[in-house]
Amino acid sequence: MLSANFNDLILNNEIETELYDINAWKTDKNNGNDRIAGEYWRNCLEIIRDNVSTQVFKTWFEPIKALSWNGNQLVVQVPSQFFCEWIEEHFYPLLQKTITQVLGDEASLQYEIVVDENNETLDKRTIKIPAFRYPPTGKQGVLMFAGESEKVPDFNSNLNPRYSFDNFVKGESNQLASSAAWAVAQNPGGTRFNPLVIYGETGLGKTHLVQGIGNFIALKNNKMKVLYTTSEHFTQEFINAIQNNKVNEFINFYRSIDTLIVDDIQFFAGKEKTQDNFFHTFNALHQAGKQLILTSDKPPRDLDNVDDRLISRFQWGLIVDIQPPDFETRMAILQKKSIDEGIELPNNIIEYLAKNITSSVRELEGSLISIIAKVTLDRRELTLDLARDVVYGIGGAEPKPVTIDEIKLAVADYYKLSVESIESKSRKHEITLARQMSMFIAKQLTQLSLKSIGASFGNRDHSTVLHSCQTIENYFATDSSIKLAHESLKRKLSRT
Ligand code: ADP
Ligand code: MG
Repeated sequence: MLSANFNDLILNNEIETELYDINAWKTDKNNGNDRIAGEYWRNCLEIIRDNVSTQVFKTWFEPIKALSWNGNQLVVQVPSQFFCEWIEEHFYPLLQKTITQVLGDEASLQYEIVVDENNETLDKRTIKIPAFRYPPTGKQGVLMFAGESEKVPDFNSNLNPRYSFDNFVKGESNQLASSAAWAVAQNPGGTRFNPLVIYGETGLGKTHLVQGIGNFIALKNNKMKVLYTTSEHFTQEFINAIQNNKVNEFINFYRSIDTLIVDDIQFFAGKEKTQDNFFHTFNALHQAGKQLILTSDKPPRDLDNVDDRLISRFQWGLIVDIQPPDFETRMAILQKKSIDEGIELPNNIIEYLAKNITSSVRELEGSLISIIAKVTLDRRELTLDLARDVVYGIGGAEPKPVTIDEIKLAVADYYKLSVESIESKSRKHEITLARQMSMFIAKQLTQLSLKSIGASFGNRDHSTVLHSCQTIENYFATDSSIKLAHESLKRKLSRT
């Protein structure tokens, strides 16, 4: 195994920026590029027209209007969600190829759908859906139109085009894995990272990354056979091959692959015959300079019931792990995903989710999707309460209770005082007010008794605390600045 010698996969800044700069998505729509959008879309339509019948063209493509182009994303308006799903279902390969041909590899397409004509606020009238989110449902959809659309490719790579480098957020936790993935995608079979083994716990992006490699290679190299499979699928196919007397075909098929991606190799455990077959496939491909990409939920050396000679093969190339994302990466993932989903989440909600959902990207994504569903379908307001409901719903950790020290700090900061002055015996009005405010918030946000609250403010007794709380509540009716201060502090301290 190559221990971290990454000289040949240092990403240059240009690539990094190109791939991961989420700000590129936030370009102003009204920057005069709408005309370019129109031209690009017309070019796309020319290609599409040549590949479908007139009837299909009129029904499904003419009603689409180009809206904007921001340098890497074309936004088009479609009449309804059904319309958009239908197009994706039936013209997926054609549309994707056309977009790549006209707009280039890195560009993406987004649909904007008018959902509610009668809604008076402009923002709520439309939703945005990125194109190519869902893979086509097998070949049937394409075959239905085989006569009039482009040729059906005879090789099904099982790749889900939803997974790309573009929408994979890079952070410290996946730095090496994503750099290695990128290096392999650029030069399949041509780096020392063969096999590339990516391991890590569930929901951290292994499948996304390896499919991203596959999609990239398949798109760049028309003739290369890229195959994504899982160890379970491989096993099942092998069993079927034995039952149907087609083991030779099975072997030949796998040896014809140029880039073989096998997800979740931990499920090879205990399947000796399959392992043996995979061992020979692995050797044949490796010898022929073909690329192998594997994922596992643990480091290969820890795989139980997997043949040692197979494990030693896994160590020929590069083994990298993906760790749970750190806070900043979680924030970046949520920001990017919410933009992709066409919903702008306020920063405090993103922060709340990023703070409270720490274990997996899948759960982060789940929380975002729940929020979007609750806002668009149940018409719930986009508030922190909603975020909190969602977090508890998916079993996120209960937020830790606020401590009295945090309260003192926040209040001191708000009133531009020192924490010591709040704890002191001073009777100066602003200090007394800050102290009373701190006690009141402590009573509201912590489980502490009046006695212990008093104790942490210069050894005051419980009746002083009670009196302070009463005083603050009385102010609410007469002094709006105190009410505002309280609201703002409470918001800040409520684990938001
Ligand atoms: P694994 O295979 O490790 O269990 P997946 O690749 O299935 O995890 O990831 C779970 C979900 O989280 C997927 O929807 C994937 O797109 C998303 N995801 C994971 N990591 C990232 C990332 N760094 N950036 C964007 N999306 C991610
Ligand atoms: Mg996976």
